[in-house]
Amino acid sequence: LASLFLARIEASDLNAFLHVDKGLTLQQAANADKRLAAGDATVLTGIPIAHKDIFVTRDWRSTAASKMLENYVSPFDATVVEQFNQAGTVTLGKLNCDEFAMGSSNENSYFGAVKNPWDKTAIPGGSSGGSAAAIAACLTPAATATDTGGSIRQPAALCGVTGIKPTYGRVSRYGMIAFASSLDQGGPIAKTAEDCGLLLNAMCGFDPRDSTSIERETEDFTRNLHQPLQGLRIGIPKEYFGEGLAADVEQAVRAALQEFEKLGATLVDISLPKTELSIPTYYVIAPAEASSNLSRFDGVRYGYRANDYKDLADMYRKTRSEGFGDEVKRRILVGAYVLSHGYYDAYYVQAQKIRRLIAQDFQQVLSGPDKQCDVIMGPVAPTVAWDLGSKADDPVANYLADIFTLSTSLAGLPGMSVPCGFGQGEKNSKRPVGLQIIGNYFDEARLLNVAHQYQ
Ligand code: GLN
Repeated sequence: LASLFLARIEASDLNAFLHVDKGLTLQQAANADKRLAAGDATVLTGIPIAHKDIFVTRDWRSTAASKMLENYVSPFDATVVEQFNQAGTVTLGKLNCDEFAMGSSNENSYFGAVKNPWDKTAIPGGSSGGSAAAIAACLTPAATATDTGGSIRQPAALCGVTGIKPTYGRVSRYGMIAFASSLDQGGPIAKTAEDCGLLLNAMCGFDPRDSTSIERETEDFTRNLHQPLQGLRIGIPKEYFGEGLAADVEQAVRAALQEFEKLGATLVDISLPKTELSIPTYYVIAPAEASSNLSRFDGVRYGYRANDYKDLADMYRKTRSEGFGDEVKRRILVGAYVLSHGYYDAYYVQAQKIRRLIAQDFQQVLSGPDKQCDVIMGPVAPTVAWDLGSKADDPVANYLADIFTLSTSLAGLPGMSVPCGFGQGEKNSKRPVGLQIIGNYFDEARLLNVAHQYQ
């Protein structure tokens, strides 16, 4: 099985994989065979998997798709990687992404953009573009990814595959190269909700090495897959179907909603009034945390160091100017600005307050005596995948495309993306559309159930 996928990876021109080491992979496969023969296997033993290059690995380089970490090898495995190794998966390699997971198109990778397998002139989405493209092109049956503001759901949608971002705190962030720590959350991308459930079973769990890890009993995320949807109340937020939503995406999402009605669910009109504030709020909080997290890349402790410098300050300056790409620098500048004396109250504190209101929007419809629905559905992204290069020089256009995924992240809620048909895009080509399913905290098993019944 591992050899089959390695051959496909070798033949692929999508740029989805950054590091592959056949010898290592085949060694892991041989170990998995031994475990299977010895009767010491889990359901994942021998299953090939690939990890987003944000998770550190002892055996493969861990670059976060940055020049800063081009040759970095971690002395330890991320908890997520360790958990999969213990389950007996076979690692095929590391997957391309936007530099430090900052982006929505995978064009911010130091190692070049990933192509969308449905149309190689289109972006795969981001930041986990390598993970989504590799699943769509059958280069791996399972992939890890991370979602800070949509980076699991949006590339899954644009590549026509399934991905889930669990409740914040479910998956350990230990060894996940940090972008915005109060938002970062790992999760799987695979073909189906069932596969995502099996992968989540291995990924979730309390980790004392992550201070925001949630201490909860382990659960089987696949336990509800076969439950019928009779009586399910699906909230349809009017803010997710307004101006800016492309007609082809709306059509595919509405067709999926009709299918859910046929499955016995009822659609309820709801409102999440603070939705439009999610973009300015996220693009203050995420850069603020990024500017702090990325201060560790100083040319001393990790990775890249400039060659020519006069003194220590010059070394820092040159290392960071040369090592970081434009988008990462932009975030560091914005983050340092909103945290600086005199602007902290005007930007950062305000954003934190609005973040709370955004979370309250969701609680008003998903919980309490006035609960209106069990899950929320809408589009993942306002359009299908755009053409490679078409928005590469326009950061704000990229930020605006995150409108439907950011509020879930700011609230810490679980959200998933399920393929629901195709649109045409600008080029009249066939480009996938994703349906987003959002649930209340810890409701992953229900999201997977809802998605599985539809699939
Ligand atoms: N597109 C968003 C950003 O650029 C989200 C990225 C992510 O979830 N890692 O920040």
